[in-house]
Amino acid sequence: MASISAANFHTPRILSPNSLPHDANQKKICQSQCRTFPLLRRSAICRASPQGVKRETSNTRIFASVTDLLLDETEEKFRLPKGDTWSVHKFGGTCVGSSERIKNVADIIVKDNSERKLVVVSAMSKVTDMMYDLIEKAQSRDDSFVSALDAVLEKHRSTAFDLLDGDDLSSFLSRLHNDISNLKAMLRAIYIAGHATESFKDFVVGHGELWSAQILSSVVRKKGMNRKWMDTREVLIVNPSGSDQVDPDYVESEKRLEKWYSQNPSEIIIATGFIASTPQNIPTTLKRDGSDFSAAIMGALFRACQVTIWTDVDGVYTADPRKVSEAVILQTLSYQEAWEMSYFGANVLHPRTIIPVMQYSIPIVIRNIFNLSAPGTRICHSLVNDKEEGQSLEPLVRGFATIDNLALVNVEGTGMAGVPGTADAIFGAVKDVGANVIMISQASSEHSVCFAVPEKEVKAVAEALKSRFHQALDSGRLSQIAVIPNCSILAAVGQKMASTPGVSASLFNALAKANINVRAIAQGCSEYNITVVIKQEDCIKALRAVHSRFYLSRTTIAMGVIGAGLIGHTLLGQLRDQAAVLKEKFNIDLRVMGITSSSTMLLSDVGIDLSRWRDLQIENGEVANLENFVQHVHGNHLLPNTVLVDCTADSGVASHYYDWLQKGIHVITPNKKANSGPLDQYLKLRSLQRQSYTHYFYEATVGAGLPIISTLRGLLETGDKILKVEGIFSGTLSYIFNNFIGKRAFSEVVAEAKQAGYTEPDPRDDLSGTDVARKVIILARESGLKLELSDIPIDNLVPEPLRDSASPEEFMQQLPQFDQDMTNNRQDAEDAGEVLRYVGIVDVANKKGVVELRRYKKDHPFAQLSGSDNIIAFTTTRYKNQPLIVRGPGAGAQVTAGGVFSDILRLASYLGAPS
Ligand code: ADP
Ligand code: ASP
Ligand code: MG
Repeated sequence: MASISAANFHTPRILSPNSLPHDANQKKICQSQCRTFPLLRRSAICRASPQGVKRETSNTRIFASVTDLLLDETEEKFRLPKGDTWSVHKFGGTCVGSSERIKNVADIIVKDNSERKLVVVSAMSKVTDMMYDLIEKAQSRDDSFVSALDAVLEKHRSTAFDLLDGDDLSSFLSRLHNDISNLKAMLRAIYIAGHATESFKDFVVGHGELWSAQILSSVVRKKGMNRKWMDTREVLIVNPSGSDQVDPDYVESEKRLEKWYSQNPSEIIIATGFIASTPQNIPTTLKRDGSDFSAAIMGALFRACQVTIWTDVDGVYTADPRKVSEAVILQTLSYQEAWEMSYFGANVLHPRTIIPVMQYSIPIVIRNIFNLSAPGTRICHSLVNDKEEGQSLEPLVRGFATIDNLALVNVEGTGMAGVPGTADAIFGAVKDVGANVIMISQASSEHSVCFAVPEKEVKAVAEALKSRFHQALDSGRLSQIAVIPNCSILAAVGQKMASTPGVSASLFNALAKANINVRAIAQGCSEYNITVVIKQEDCIKALRAVHSRFYLSRTTIAMGVIGAGLIGHTLLGQLRDQAAVLKEKFNIDLRVMGITSSSTMLLSDVGIDLSRWRDLQIENGEVANLENFVQHVHGNHLLPNTVLVDCTADSGVASHYYDWLQKGIHVITPNKKANSGPLDQYLKLRSLQRQSYTHYFYEATVGAGLPIISTLRGLLETGDKILKVEGIFSGTLSYIFNNFIGKRAFSEVVAEAKQAGYTEPDPRDDLSGTDVARKVIILARESGLKLELSDIPIDNLVPEPLRDSASPEEFMQQLPQFDQDMTNNRQDAEDAGEVLRYVGIVDVANKKGVVELRRYKKDHPFAQLSGSDNIIAFTTTRYKNQPLIVRGPGAGAQVTAGGVFSDILRLASYLGAPS
């Protein structure tokens, strides 16, 4: 295919408005310099001193001036005064994204009181993308490149009209139109050829910086400041170094800078970022986001005192603030840490920005142009780091960064062990296809080598490896070359990780708790970073989980509350009252991201204001849909942990638990349906829970807020053997039998209990004993018995003839007709010095459960109950003679919600909250 390159197509010569023919330029300078640059003269003399120090200051220059008066004044006058008097400012695309913003940048330049300033400017935001798009379009023979080019023209034309006038405006517009018509011709040629070479592309895309720098330069001039604008292609010389990178040629660039400066001396220079030339004067670029790199190279060439990178965030955050809303600003970073953060995807800084400035110890400061009050992040040698922030305050891991769109390549086989040159052959093949290896991991057994490359390069890499190793594959020395697509890298960065044991354990622990599978791991000897490869879809969740584990040590949990009835709304009230304390004292951040009833759901992206959720539900509620609800709570926010709290009594909702747990969503509930439902489903649920780090808590299913399940578990886990669990598990039936005394009729006590709100709306739901049987089943299964609900014989207290009567009212009316049986029962018991109690019993030794009306001696603990209390007795090998007894209120919304709440806190502590 034909190809067009900047070299063979006639590329316009690089001419800036300042690049007048040499003589004219020189003359112009001679007329003005002595007047305009008194400081320049002093520092120029200093540079000529044989003892010239590397980084001059104003003070040193005054002393030096005595010795050098004899130098040729005209030559020295325009020599570049390198040193501390120069301050470099780089303004990113967002800083110059509109006329208003360009004005703002000019103000900052004017107000900066450095003696000399070099300003490096990016293209207006989106312009470089537009330029790349022009080439894409032309290459694919899409003639809409013409209208796209018009949009580029219009953007700059209108900005120029907003900001410039007079000669400045007309000269800019004439250059702009000239550039655009050149570009149109070039794009037409690309369109015809269907291809463009790298250097041709570089030439086209670099125009954004040429235009933005010229506009800014004119605006600064309009403010009465003398300045020069620099087309950095005249100065910055770079050599391509493969893999879409270039290396600066400092010696040649320094020479060209000296020359440029002698022709354009100024105390304010507005320079283009991003663009440069090859030693053969072919225009090129420093590649995407390269303006930061331009500024750093310039900082080094000028030996500046500081490079300030102005952007749209307050500095370097502990993680990408778009992905982790809790990320915090780092006041300082070492060069090494900043490099690691940027290499692993923190695009606030181009990774190559560090090296040029580090060699001269020039600090970089990242600042927010939209928030001048923020001091920003200072990047310098690590000593300052320690002094400023104090060792103890500094977290071990300074920050986290991620890179998406990667693939892992795994080369595996026993024939690799101990064979010298295998790694060389693997990476030689990778290099031959020009792929960029981002991380490498090799197990010490040398059984496999695994590395990450950009997804778009993996096909070529795999093919190259298969062809390079086909013999080894055929002979079985290599078992496979496998590609695992859709990966991301998560890197933890921090200089102090090296000297502290346990950092990686905490990292992996946080990932495991967030249910994230780690596919590969790498940690270099420097231990500046730990790198893990994970599934791309897990990336943000992983980032948030590890970030909150290390940086915030705050357990953030996204919560969805299902069921907004009595228990749901009581729980929300308790959460509302306690949230601030939990956050402040225990670092637990509970955020209710959704509340759903059977008809309406309320969703939030940041957490629902629990003091007015009912109003919000009326104002913003949507039609309830459980699937969307779960997707919102778990999927949308990607907070590291999600819990669904099922406050319904619905078996439909319970049927989703398995699926939720499998997705890594924790489940907490007072709903008995799942644990007392079909045995096989229960067993599946529990075994899934045991295999994963996902939690399923249901303390409130038995005895509301009383610690019954946890007591049982505590006994079992510490090696005790349960023999029997016997208890009064129904608050309603407890109340009824505690008050069925003297001459009172049974129906009278039932009516009283109903009146007081102790019963279900239909008291038969309590009297039937099914609810107690469900609790017995839950405890039986917890104790290891494999029983179904139908295996439990239930003593149903609803008289047979009334079981099918139409309504609760009808039932209540007819109940007195059956009082006699119960009165007789009571009398028999009393005659024997006993009372009646409705109990559930798990007979572990005989693998049985039962729910029945039993008689107990008057001095038995069960006979001493009052009100609606529950009482549960555990007989175990340790507690054989005297059972372990738990007693207290076991029904009611407050205590049930309290039980659920304490499960939520248990979850938080399992997830790492402080105790
Ligand atoms: P500019 O155009 O000014 O060069 P960039 O978009 O290249 O701006 O870089 C700034 C952006 O980098 C921020 O808006 C932020 O979203 C992103 N970013 C990613 N990681 C981090 C981080 N750890 N700290 C700060 N910003 C980050
Ligand atoms: N304008 C260039 C880009 O968008 C360089 C930069 O802004 O850093 O890639
Ligand atoms: Mg940038």
